[in-house]
Amino acid sequence: MEIIRTPAEMTAWANKALVAGERIGLVPTMGFFHEGHLSLMRRAGEKADRTVVSLFVNPIQFGANEDLGRYPRDFSRDCQLAQDQGVDVLFAPEPHDMYPPEASTRVVVSGLTEGLCGKSRPGHFAGVTTVVAKLFHIIKPHCAVFGRKDFQQLAVIERMVADLDWDVEIIGHPIVREPDGLAMSSRNVYLSASERRAALCLFRAIGHARRRVRTGPVEAPVLQQEVEELLLQEGVAIEYVSIVDHATLRPQAVLQKSAVLAMAIKVGATRLIDNDNLFDD
Ligand code: AMP
Repeated sequence: MEIIRTPAEMTAWANKALVAGERIGLVPTMGFFHEGHLSLMRRAGEKADRTVVSLFVNPIQFGANEDLGRYPRDFSRDCQLAQDQGVDVLFAPEPHDMYPPEASTRVVVSGLTEGLCGKSRPGHFAGVTTVVAKLFHIIKPHCAVFGRKDFQQLAVIERMVADLDWDVEIIGHPIVREPDGLAMSSRNVYLSASERRAALCLFRAIGHARRRVRTGPVEAPVLQQEVEELLLQEGVAIEYVSIVDHATLRPQAVLQKSAVLAMAIKVGATRLIDNDNLFDD
């Protein structure tokens, strides 16, 4: 596996692959890999001839009071894990290479970015779409794999790609969970043992909501309130519980097949998100 540090070298590599007629698959990440990341890498490997994983803790998607400074990192372990998945290139630029001081462009998707996580994280999605747009230009992938764990991010990127007529196939990958149901996240390392137990309320809430929609009609506001009560029993702080359409992200008053239960909570100082397509098998 090659490790490439600068956008110029990355583009030179991509141009060579394109001339050789190879399909490039990209997996954008912020590193500190877990099985969720690794399954995205394997998926990209199935869809493309060459797999590029970007590892970049993108400063412009973090708010002033967020965890940029203490975001977990382990570069040598990440290199080994990526290599074990058959990744061809790990692209790991420095912030000053991605954002030189004179950089002053942001790629902004409106509408979809305003609710859910966008409410408490102003500017977050503009940071995400800007870095993903840059990665698409630098690496020129045919396809890119994103996790449904961040389902709002996935919807926003699909919107950006459609709006800008970008010829990149966006692949959404299912959420990878720990054996007990907690969605894998680099941020799970922040959790103490008791917080880790409390965090399982997200998965229990999903189980409850799935059972409710299977056993008969239930109104969205009623289900939403039941989920909130279940979360509050664990003493976590709720940022939002929302039942929305998976593509428009608009709240559903009457539950449709496209319903996604989306949740963001704080367990101690750690912010966790989870979601589920309630009617999927
Ligand atoms: P991150 O490094 O947290 O920015 O995540 C990089 C990519 O991995 C994003 O597309 C995430 O949605 C995806 N991802 C993170 N955790 C999971 C998970 N538990 N299951 C599936 N995809 C995930």
